[in-house]
Amino acid sequence: MKKVKRRSLLQLGALSGVTTGLTMSTTGLSMTPDPVHGAIDGGVKEYVRLGRTGFQVSDVSFGSFPLQHGDERVVLHAMDRGINYFDTAESYGEGVSEEVMGKALKGGRRKSVKLATKIFAGGSTSASSMMARLDACLKRLQTDYIDVFFNHAVNDIRRLQNPEWLEFTDKARSLGKVRYFGMSGHAGRLTDCIEYALDKDMFDVMLLAMNFGDDPAFYERFTRSTDLVANQQGLPKLLAKAKQQDVGIVAMKVLRGARLNDMRPYEREGSTYAQAACRWILNNPDVDNLIITMRNRDEVDEYLGASGSSAVSRVDMELLQQYARQTEASYCRNVCNDCEGSCPYDVPIPDILRMHMYATDYGDYSVARNEYARLEHNASACLSCDGSPCQDACTFNIPVADLCGPTHQLLS
Ligand code: SF4
Ligand code: SF4
Repeated sequence: MKKVKRRSLLQLGALSGVTTGLTMSTTGLSMTPDPVHGAIDGGVKEYVRLGRTGFQVSDVSFGSFPLQHGDERVVLHAMDRGINYFDTAESYGEGVSEEVMGKALKGGRRKSVKLATKIFAGGSTSASSMMARLDACLKRLQTDYIDVFFNHAVNDIRRLQNPEWLEFTDKARSLGKVRYFGMSGHAGRLTDCIEYALDKDMFDVMLLAMNFGDDPAFYERFTRSTDLVANQQGLPKLLAKAKQQDVGIVAMKVLRGARLNDMRPYEREGSTYAQAACRWILNNPDVDNLIITMRNRDEVDEYLGASGSSAVSRVDMELLQQYARQTEASYCRNVCNDCEGSCPYDVPIPDILRMHMYATDYGDYSVARNEYARLEHNASACLSCDGSPCQDACTFNIPVADLCGPTHQLLS
């Protein structure tokens, strides 16, 4: 029933009414009539407190997903513009992102920024293995401490129940190698994992995938039945709970797939789609800051146009609406997980489609290949399957079988 209603709403073009009634909000969003937003070449305009860490960090911060050797200049440009929170991971470019960051920030610069990195610690990973990987991160980053160290892409509560993680964190903290710990998450069962971690008070910071199109508040403009179209229903409450517990919240994946070139023809009045998507997140009072992948100086400057935003304009809303319409039938929400259990061969459909997004939308083939290689189950079964079991599995009519098989061929 849920599927049919949600599909019906989308097919009826409910999104087309989204720009009406923008003057009121129940979520603290401040709507203004079409202001022209910050200069595109401006720097950071606001620093925010990152929960109980007490760090004052740039509201728009640096995601380093695709950094390649030679990109140190992009990191330095971001620093020049005032960005002081840099996020990386051992898996990004198989360590290359950390190496680039290390080269760029070594020496005196290191102390003027907050550095976050991640390892994937599973349900049976040993504390000694985690420590060895932390040491490898420190070496690549040319530093002797990490400000925030994340367990990466947590999508299963069993990973949070591993007692070795607690043993590792106690030891790493007491040795001064890590100041604060966190979890990142962007896949199925995300809200279950957040809730579990909050109940156990496991982390100081959470790095969470969220964007306007998964936010129930985005749909409040045109339907009362937000439960039928938004697929992060549980997230707002959990963000509020995290705020109460003074857990820092960093948003990621705020662009909903980053098909920026598709949006250029619609951008006007000094507002870009990316800035609009960032502003939506920054106006959420339960989010502290966001990270966004910055590949070059132009992207640094464009994204910083959203820094310090206190309003989501009518132009912003039109851009978000346009993007949502254009990507409705091809963007995997990833966290909705409605297709779970549809594949008899245990293909993790949301994970496969996320790798597909990394490769085709972001153009980051090496990261996509690396992440794909880590999957416990991949999509090899799709090559000999007629696709009938998952034919109607996606609530949003994404042609799962047409994408999963080719993704395997592309990334294996
Ligand atoms: S095509 Fe077949 S193997 Fe691949 S996800 Fe669909 S049902 Fe599973
Ligand atoms: S494929 Fe469809 S149902 Fe599955 S996670 Fe993505 S959007 Fe949700």
